[in-house]
Amino acid sequence: MGIVIKIVDWFTKNRNMLFLAVCLVIHVIYLCVFQILNVLPLVALNLFSSGFYFNFLVLKKDTSEKSMLHTYFEILLFSFLSELALGPDYGFFLYMIGLSSAVFYLVPSYRNARFLYQIIGIATAFILKFIVMVVGVRFPAMQSAVEPYCTAIFMFNMGITATIVLAATFFYSKETEKVWESLRYNMNHDALTGLYNRRFFEHKIESVPIYERDQYVISMVDIDFFKIVNDTYGHEAGDAVLVEVASCLNTTAGKENLAVRWGGEEFILYFPNTTPDKIYPIMETLRKHVEGMVIKSAGKEIHITITIGIATGMADSNYEKVIHSADEKLYLGKERGRNQVVV
Ligand code: GH3
Ligand code: MG
Ligand code: MG
Repeated sequence: MGIVIKIVDWFTKNRNMLFLAVCLVIHVIYLCVFQILNVLPLVALNLFSSGFYFNFLVLKKDTSEKSMLHTYFEILLFSFLSELALGPDYGFFLYMIGLSSAVFYLVPSYRNARFLYQIIGIATAFILKFIVMVVGVRFPAMQSAVEPYCTAIFMFNMGITATIVLAATFFYSKETEKVWESLRYNMNHDALTGLYNRRFFEHKIESVPIYERDQYVISMVDIDFFKIVNDTYGHEAGDAVLVEVASCLNTTAGKENLAVRWGGEEFILYFPNTTPDKIYPIMETLRKHVEGMVIKSAGKEIHITITIGIATGMADSNYEKVIHSADEKLYLGKERGRNQVVV
């Protein structure tokens, strides 16, 4: 699974370069084909196009979004002139249609630019079809030289267009998926500690049906004299302490329970379907562990303690009241001298 993600990432990152390379290869192939068939106007056209991509890819090494825009218009021009020269049976107009969907992924999303390019692409295809089919442009000399290869050229053009459209759609949806995943993660997690945030916890506890919400325990954890840590060692050291404490809470919570950054240096541990007498020893272990911890930040060794208040919630009790009760226990612990667990 990991390797697939890596490949997708690589393709996504290098998509402009790959696209330019594919275009260059196609034009070099056509350059050779038309040279062999001795169709000089099309040799000239593909020589120009090959030079165009060679310039961006090899000389300028420019794979910016702006160069992709030039590419789009080169493709429109190329398919327009090729179709004009050879007629409608070779499928050169397919590039216009195909590219007008791939353009969505390749060119910058500046305002409504993508829609504008799509409309330009489709309009050009319509105008071209009108000129070729209704007005009827014919170059018999060129057409007779290429005619035996009509099906092969059509299939080649269709194959390339389909591949580009499929690839663009695939990578675009992968990229969108990634953006959604990261949005969802950031919505539910605290940026500093990686713990669940308050918003997630409230949503989670409210979405558990009351009949499934049996007896549960909420522990409110607060770092003692944390302001002094900040004042003495600096805000960055304070952050390092928060990260360390969060990591201990995460380990204590495991997969069955929730560790939440409630705000500032206050955390909540949520234990469903259990009783305070089972949670108390776990909190004592946590408290002792934090007490013995040495947190290193910028060459300094920091020692801290935590105070914990424990409250019990029943299926029909309001969770806000349970949190309030845990908070009251916590303050009782602060008054009694901190570094303790109060049930
Ligand atoms: P007590 O033992 O009574 O809990 O005292 P305290 O100093 O821990 O509590 P107080 O509420 O006075 O101070 C909390 C401090 O936490 C104040 C605030 O600047 C700091 N703080 C809140 N969020 C962050 C953060 O994300 N990073 C850092 N470094 N400090 C934070
Ligand atoms: Mg505190
Ligand atoms: Mg506090």
